[in-house]
Amino acid sequence: MVKETTFYDILGVKPNCTGDELKKAYRKLALKYHPDKNANEGDRFKQISQAYEVLSNPDKRAIYDKGGEQALKEGAGGQGGFSSNPMDIFDMFFSPYGGRGGGRQRERRGKDVLHHMTVTLEDLYKGAVRKLALEKRVICEKCEGRGGKKGAIEPCPTCKGKGVQIQVHQLAPGMVQQTQCICRDCEGQKERINPKDRCKTCNGMKVVRERKILEVHVDQGMVDGQKIMFNGEGDQEPGLKPGDIIIVLDEVEHSRFKRSGNDLILREKIELVEALCGFQKVIRTLDDRDLLISSLPGTVMKHGEVKTVMGEGMPQYKNPFEKGRLIIQFLVEFPTSLPPNVIPALEECLPKRPEQMIPDNAEECILEDMDPEAESHRRDSRNAYDEDEMGGQQGSRVQCATH
Ligand SMILES: [Zn+2]
Ligand SMILES: [Zn+2]
Repeated sequence: MVKETTFYDILGVKPNCTGDELKKAYRKLALKYHPDKNANEGDRFKQISQAYEVLSNPDKRAIYDKGGEQALKEGAGGQGGFSSNPMDIFDMFFSPYGGRGGGRQRERRGKDVLHHMTVTLEDLYKGAVRKLALEKRVICEKCEGRGGKKGAIEPCPTCKGKGVQIQVHQLAPGMVQQTQCICRDCEGQKERINPKDRCKTCNGMKVVRERKILEVHVDQGMVDGQKIMFNGEGDQEPGLKPGDIIIVLDEVEHSRFKRSGNDLILREKIELVEALCGFQKVIRTLDDRDLLISSLPGTVMKHGEVKTVMGEGMPQYKNPFEKGRLIIQFLVEFPTSLPPNVIPALEECLPKRPEQMIPDNAEECILEDMDPEAESHRRDSRNAYDEDEMGGQQGSRVQCATH
């Protein structure tokens, strides 16, 4: 009988489970609750790691089985039951050369860092250079990333510089179990520095924070979401190839132009008099030029009509002298009423009204302003009828009512 089962319960295994069952349980839970995937479950991830750290070590497991968590805290030479960082346990378990054989040696690389940068449509039209200030970790220059005085660092004698300790445990004659845990003396750092020789600049951390200004070149014709890479500008860490800094462009919506690929779309309001009698309009471009567009007297611009100006759209990325189209949709502003006395004169100039034959039995109706909400309610009730078996009959009745 074990004294308490908390650690076994955390991993969802039985107190008599084998090392393989333990590994399987840890693998599943650690992947599920890893902070990268599940930022809110940090405590859970820590518990899982602690439980695994103890139970995967035969000595610690024996102490825990016998005396519970309290015994672990008292034992282990006053070091406490669990000294390791949950992340180290995770990395150790999943690292390609962490003992699980067959894993090829990949080049170890630091994390890529993603930054979002807001750009205007003007920036993307004209191109822009932006300075971006950010903080990053760089190798400490004072100690050249060693963490202390030259010669003051020696491989950890306990683990012989491996960072881990392998323990072979005999389960039964001829049957051994091999377990691996983070070296307790160097906490997986693989080396030891005498505290008095520790680098003062980085405090033995080997890296320092540094403010860095990046010059970001936004090229003409770039698009929303486009990535600009700064290779190897990510955080530095001894023994790791630094990751990249990736700038992602976030285009802010423009007040007048809408972009569609290399085309620019503009909705331009014109008065009825301009639609009928011609107009001249000035359009300010994204690079502050003025374009004059005109509709000659005698041609009529219809409401919603679309015209294009070639070569006044967005520049092509990498080929900025080629530009897309400027697409203008004209929206005619109609007057809401007319003085009755101008109507005869107006009728004189406009095409004749078509003649209307009105049957004697025509039913006179009132035209009301449409309320979109009311209409949608009516449609809903019609759908409800249609779902009934008698839909046809009911449906036609409702249709009559809407005519
Ligand atoms: Zn060590
Ligand atoms: Zn240093």
